[in-house]
Amino acid sequence: SWKYALGQYIKSPEKFPNDVTLDTPDFVVIKDAFPKSHIHYLVLPKAVKPDTHPLKAFEDDNLYEKTRAMVEKVEKMVAVEFIRTKGYSKDVKIQSGIHSVPSMNHVHVHVMTTDLSSPRLKNRTHFNSFRTGFFVPFRTIPDLKVPSLDAWMVSQEKLIKGDIVVDGENFGNKFAKAKRRLDEDFHKATIHGIPE
Ligand code: 5GP
Repeated sequence: SWKYALGQYIKSPEKFPNDVTLDTPDFVVIKDAFPKSHIHYLVLPKAVKPDTHPLKAFEDDNLYEKTRAMVEKVEKMVAVEFIRTKGYSKDVKIQSGIHSVPSMNHVHVHVMTTDLSSPRLKNRTHFNSFRTGFFVPFRTIPDLKVPSLDAWMVSQEKLIKGDIVVDGENFGNKFAKAKRRLDEDFHKATIHGIPE
């Protein structure tokens, strides 16, 4: 099933030189094949069994700490890449985290710029999965209190069905309009060329 497609990068990273950005004994870092922001990577811990929910996996403090170090490293890479590709930006904004209900069955942490300005962002679900509480910031994981994972996932799933809200402005279900706004905001926030 396509839900197991991320496993191929863990099993044979050498087969995917265009996708694999970093390969270490414990992690493989890949480019998201359908990036939802200008820059979008996935950090995959190699040792976690498929079908493990990330919140279960990160109950292992040792794995969480190792992953935190790798996420930090990738965040720095993203900042450097942003400046290299967009010329210059005073404030590169980056978000790192997991989806409450992941669609892919190997644990992965998204490390991405926050713009959501991408041709691959095609619907409200895509938008809400990265801009509501459905996206769980990696650093909040140790303090999350989730007594029942199943019940929590059911309630979290409602968040992706809500209105599209861009920086406090409610776009309802008007995805195309919201997308234009995201693209404009991103364009305005990035200054092309070397600043004086
Ligand atoms: P999830 O919703 O499971 O947290 O996100 C899974 C991510 O994996 C999505 O952002 C999606 O674009 C990405 N993805 C899905 N299939 C592939 C693939 O075959 N290769 C890569 N590199 N990324 C993928």
